[in-house]
Amino acid sequence: MLATQERVHADGRTDIVWHKAADPERCNGECDWHPIACNPSEGIVAPGPFKDVPLDLDEPGERWCPDCLAINGR
Ligand SMILES: [Zn+2]
Ligand SMILES: [Zn+2]
Repeated sequence: MLATQERVHADGRTDIVWHKAADPERCNGECDWHPIACNPSEGIVAPGPFKDVPLDLDEPGERWCPDCLAINGR
C-alpha cells in the first residue's frame, strides 16, 4: 500500500509511522505536505517520499498508523 512517513520522537529515539497516502497521484515530488487517509485535511507536513509498504510490515522502529489500517480494511 502506498504510504507516506511520519517521524515520531519518543523516549530519545525516532520511530517511523506509515500513513496511507490519500491522493498520491497529486504528488509532484516537491510537496510541502501529503494528505493521508486518517487526516486528509491536515496530512503530513514535510513528508518523505511515498513508498510501497507491505501491510504486514515487520521492521524495527516502524509501524502502521492504526487509523489508516482501519480505513484500508473497510
Ligand atoms: Zn494515519
Ligand atoms: Zn508529494
